[in-house]
Amino acid sequence: MHLDTLGILAVAPVLGIEGETFWTAVGWLANAIFSTRFLVQWYATEKRKEVTVPVLFWWLSLAGSLMFLSYAINYDRHNVFIFAYAFTWIPYLRNLIIHFRHKNARKGCPQCGSKSSPQANYCAECGTKLEPLEND
Ligand SMILES: [Zn+2]
Repeated sequence: MHLDTLGILAVAPVLGIEGETFWTAVGWLANAIFSTRFLVQWYATEKRKEVTVPVLFWWLSLAGSLMFLSYAINYDRHNVFIFAYAFTWIPYLRNLIIHFRHKNARKGCPQCGSKSSPQANYCAECGTKLEPLEND
């Protein structure tokens, strides 16, 4: 596979660093981002005392997996590592798309202005009856 598949290596000479140093930094940054997502998810779950997956978890997953994939393609170049990250970004991206669609579909309370889930019949904050969404 060509050395600069994703065009990322082009920044290494600009930054005045060797390719190996650059990709080692990318790999460790990917490790840091990928590890942080577990802390973010754990913290959110402990805070709510309920299993919770915050949207930041999906952003960190997407960023970390794409960085691991570029590292695998450009530097590691082993088919096992490339395959391990070739498709993981797809559900992460899909979860983000669904999250933002769902968020945009939320009902605004005419009384207090807080947002409720699209399925809610009453405002969770003040109890005001909510009108059904147009596509219900
Ligand atoms: Zn309300």
